[in-house]
Amino acid sequence: RTALLPVALRNDFPILSEEVGDHQPLAFLDNAASTQRPRQVIDALSGVYERTYANVHRGIHTLSELSTEQYETARHRVQRLINARQLHEVIFTSGTTASINTVARSWGDANLRAGDEVLLSVMEHHSNLVPWQQTAERTGAVLRHIPLTDDGRLDMEAFERLLTDRTKLVAVTAVSNTLGTINPVAEIIAKAHAAGALVLIDAAQSVPHLAVDVQALDVDFLAFSGHKMLGPSGVGVLYGKEALLDAMPPFLGGGSMINEVKLSSFTPAALPAKFEAGTPPIVPAIGMSAAIDYLQSVGLDAIHRHESELTRYAYDALSQIEGLRILGPAPEHRAGLVSFAFDRIHAHEFAQVLNDQFGVAVRAGHHCTQPLHAHLGIAASTRASFYLYNTLEEVDRLIEGVLAVQRMFAPQGRQRKRRKPDE
Ligand code: PMP
Repeated sequence: RTALLPVALRNDFPILSEEVGDHQPLAFLDNAASTQRPRQVIDALSGVYERTYANVHRGIHTLSELSTEQYETARHRVQRLINARQLHEVIFTSGTTASINTVARSWGDANLRAGDEVLLSVMEHHSNLVPWQQTAERTGAVLRHIPLTDDGRLDMEAFERLLTDRTKLVAVTAVSNTLGTINPVAEIIAKAHAAGALVLIDAAQSVPHLAVDVQALDVDFLAFSGHKMLGPSGVGVLYGKEALLDAMPPFLGGGSMINEVKLSSFTPAALPAKFEAGTPPIVPAIGMSAAIDYLQSVGLDAIHRHESELTRYAYDALSQIEGLRILGPAPEHRAGLVSFAFDRIHAHEFAQVLNDQFGVAVRAGHHCTQPLHAHLGIAASTRASFYLYNTLEEVDRLIEGVLAVQRMFAPQGRQRKRRKPDE
């Protein structure tokens, strides 16, 4: 198992040795929802508050200069991480949701007309569905959805059929937060461009785990969140091509996003300030910058190999369990997560027992993908999602816990008595 990262890396994450409930250490397998932070990020955050904090871009005083410099350095780090051509193509937002809403409001309202089509997919997170539903309501644009293959991948033949001269934008996720599917975004972008459509990629589950190069992809818009990549919550990124962002009207109005304001009018600031109204997420962005440094010091390729190893191991073990349905494709098409469902056992029962008896934190529910769950014919699923600090031992505990739940709730064990895991 040479692909696994050293277990010692866990020592960088103080929370992983906390006693949570009665369990120490907790197996934290809910990384697709949000990740934990290494000491390096925590120190960067407290360092700002202890030594350099002030509002950015405003005061002509030393602290303001220091925090502005750190905030702008964070923008450089993001630029380098995703290989953006221009620094001002990196906009700090409050997260993926805010980034997508910015495009849906600003670009969508300015460019979509009745009858124009936006192509989404059945596996999208609500944050890449609802903003487009709202835009469609305002503009009369029509939403279409790429269907899925039986094994939970995008049906690329259907995609090509749905792509027409009416399609103005294709907005899809790079990695499904429920199925784990890694989508062929390079192919999607090339085909969409050939059809004259722009492409927005929801990279909330890909930038934290896979190397992403916006220039190589030629993607038009890309959205992701700091809290899913070892950074703080409250910060995310919207990447957009300069010409597109330049042509878009500002979304939120207020301080910082203006060049000049009169009582009845304003002129917008240049990029990136045009899309950063108000006091930005100063400290979260600086924390995200430290998280990027950490991720790059470990290496995104090494992180991906580590997660693939854990995922294959979990997938193989879960596939042996009778009555368990794994959602999504075979390991070679998936990123570091596995969701599953049992016919007769609710996902919340799994999450509860896994948490209470095994110290394993997983997500249960629809994971903000209700239409996908409806398509799969289930109301909810249980999801284990991995990151660089997870271990095979934690996957073993997950499997042990799943088997115990199955014994508790399966027909032959109907007494519904909670047994100790080793009984
Ligand atoms: N898209 C995907 C694929 C996600 O997994 C998530 C977070 N679960 C989001 C969008 C939304 O991200 P945030 O809540 O950070 O805005």
